[in-house]
Amino acid sequence: MSETSNAVVASNGLENPLLKPNPLLEAWTTPFETPPFAEILPEHFIPAFEQAFFDHSAEVAAIVNDPATPDFANTITALERSGKLLGRVSAVFYDLVSAHSNPKLLEIDKEVSLRQARHWNPIMMNAVLFGRIAALHDNRATLGLTAEQMRLLERSYNRFHRSGAGLDDVAKARMAEINERLASLGTSFSHHLLADEQDWFMEIGEDDTDGLPSSFVAAAKAAAEERGMAGRAIITTSRSSMEPFLKSSTRRDLREKAYKAFIERGNNGNANDNNDVIVEILALREETAKLLGFPTFAAYRLEDSMAKTPEAVRGLLERVWKPARERALADRDALQELIAEDGGNFKLAAWDWRFYAEKLRQRRANFDDAAIKPYLSLDNMIAASFDTATRLFGVTFEERKDVPVWHPDVRVWEVKDAHGAHKALFYGDYFARTSKRSGAWMTSLRDQQKLDGDIAPLILNVCNFSKGTDGQPSLLSPDDARTLFHEFGHGLHGMMSNVTYPSLSGTSVFTDFVELPSQLYEHWQEQPQVLRQFAKHYQTGEPLPDDLLKRFIAARKFNQGFATVEFVSSALIDLEFHTQPASASADVAAFEKKELEKIGMPAEISLRHRPTQFGHIFSGDHYASGYYSYMWSAVMDADAFGAFEEAGNIFDPAVSKRLLDDIYSSGGSVDPEQAYIAFRGRPPAPDALLRRRGLLDTPEAA
Ligand SMILES: [Zn+2]
Repeated sequence: MSETSNAVVASNGLENPLLKPNPLLEAWTTPFETPPFAEILPEHFIPAFEQAFFDHSAEVAAIVNDPATPDFANTITALERSGKLLGRVSAVFYDLVSAHSNPKLLEIDKEVSLRQARHWNPIMMNAVLFGRIAALHDNRATLGLTAEQMRLLERSYNRFHRSGAGLDDVAKARMAEINERLASLGTSFSHHLLADEQDWFMEIGEDDTDGLPSSFVAAAKAAAEERGMAGRAIITTSRSSMEPFLKSSTRRDLREKAYKAFIERGNNGNANDNNDVIVEILALREETAKLLGFPTFAAYRLEDSMAKTPEAVRGLLERVWKPARERALADRDALQELIAEDGGNFKLAAWDWRFYAEKLRQRRANFDDAAIKPYLSLDNMIAASFDTATRLFGVTFEERKDVPVWHPDVRVWEVKDAHGAHKALFYGDYFARTSKRSGAWMTSLRDQQKLDGDIAPLILNVCNFSKGTDGQPSLLSPDDARTLFHEFGHGLHGMMSNVTYPSLSGTSVFTDFVELPSQLYEHWQEQPQVLRQFAKHYQTGEPLPDDLLKRFIAARKFNQGFATVEFVSSALIDLEFHTQPASASADVAAFEKKELEKIGMPAEISLRHRPTQFGHIFSGDHYASGYYSYMWSAVMDADAFGAFEEAGNIFDPAVSKRLLDDIYSSGGSVDPEQAYIAFRGRPPAPDALLRRRGLLDTPEAA
């Protein structure tokens, strides 16, 4: 037994605890062996995690100490089999923390994240374990592996190598130090941002409501009440408050005040200022990259992506930037004309854009969201998303009432394959509530795998739609309906997964590939064929009138120049932060100004996320130098849907079969570029994206 291997077990300092009956540690006798949510209490988690860490460390130690020569089975497969309990406890825990938390759980979460880091660091930097994996990797061509096993070996090797497992002890110690510091800086960044957001509000008096819809004023009153100012009305810097205000308030002075507060979050020179945090994060990231032998953090980060290099990312962003900027400049001129027609005598400013764009949209597309909502009831849109999956992949859905859930609003469906065999369970948790974090996401309680018999996945979609009131069903906005299809696309990626090894299952793919199945699925939501069948008025049952349907589809292309400029400029500055030397951005504001001048950023548009509020890239490192990922996937989804359009049938059986085989069922078992080419017969072309966003059309046609 080596010293390093001892460290794996000893690092936890844990004894196998004597535990009372704990539902997280017992066999589940529920239908489909699902978590028995009603029996699981917050106090069960810490003992369950302790047991899970203990078991996992022992399993890893057994692999490390195995006297037999390393082979695929005793090293890679054994690692895949390890940590089952940890996976099971973590899945239930993080589902509850995100979808149905309480102060007790959030307190436990702080402790659990620290323990997770302490548990994983010594495993991922274990020299003996890495030595076994590296020996297999060196000889991989001679091992007689299947294609999936080869991919798994490469992914495993990469994961350890990129965590610093191959470094000398001094470098490892420094890496560990940096990792801890970066974790704490990321937390500071998001806490600062949150504090600045909580501090600021603007009161809306009786005379300040001109242009605001009554539903917005009601929300502003609710926001005030939540902050202990019952009877008043406020707007806050949350996007769901700010964007509708900027769209609809006729008070230019108030728009300016609100907008400036919004774009200065984290940049106010107070205790919540994020500038110094950013400077330190960038310096430490640069040091990490150099320790691992890369010239820049972007080069390090992008090596493990589809894009592979900063140059490839820049190439895509610049290709999209030019037409998007031109469209935005043309729209800017149209907005200026609108101001003149209205008798305004001022130059369009950033706080005017959304207001006049909304006016222009109503004039050009003669469409507003309220007209279509009665046709988009939640139940009808769920039915549409299921029916699309049935037509594409042959799966069927049947609601089950006997599966335990974490909240009474959660619904569960059993998914069966074309032969009627059990395939998955799908949990839908659709409504907003205070115990749920904002946004929408897909996750799993159990992943598909076939390592020791067929394991069927338990897949979740969590959204924040408004519940219907007074007997009216929940009615979705067009954006909500798109979100429903988006998350269900991720859900199908998990449910249709058909791989052997758990770490390659479903959505375990590169960040710049993972949005392909979700964004692609959005296309079906806006097809006339789907809308005609499922978009029915919730009171009369009348189908969506053709004229409204056409205006709805046309409105989708509106203001895409602005949206694309906002996004691409943010992705470009993310790339520049991580390719230029950290010293170049020692003055963050000056760096931002210089980079925006370089690309010719229109003065009337700001970054979607200015640096001091760019949580994607500074709250943690998942999207650091990776914000472009949405656009990379968008190129593929627009191009991929073209395969159905070319076939003349949006449910073409041959194209659907390739889509299932090459994209939705293959998880991380295939290189994504090869997977895409297998599906499409060629690499993706960016023109489809530009067309979909209307960026190749003449401005008048938008
Ligand atoms: Zn997504």
